Amino acid sequence: MGRYYRKKKMVVEDHTQKLRLLAVKKGFCQECGSRHEPNQPHNCDSMFYQARFRMQHGRFPNWKDAMSHCSPEMKEVWTKELKKLRQM
Ligand SMILES: [Zn+2]
Repeated sequence: MGRYYRKKKMVVEDHTQKLRLLAVKKGFCQECGSRHEPNQPHNCDSMFYQARFRMQHGRFPNWKDAMSHCSPEMKEVWTKELKKLRQM
């Protein structure tokens, strides 16, 4: 009984920690926890984004994931810049 309770408490605490991680300040992107225009990619380097993405998809995100919601034109611009920086 006591053992079961301890185990359950750990799960609850773990859940609370995840929820705290998901609480984003107002004016910041809810996905990556950074400040950017909605038409811009998420901050792929953000620890918040990586943790959140991993929770949802079971793997770490790359820049393609970070810009998956962007327009084709925006993707093109970012892909070009990221290739210059050798991030892609
Ligand atoms: Zn974002």
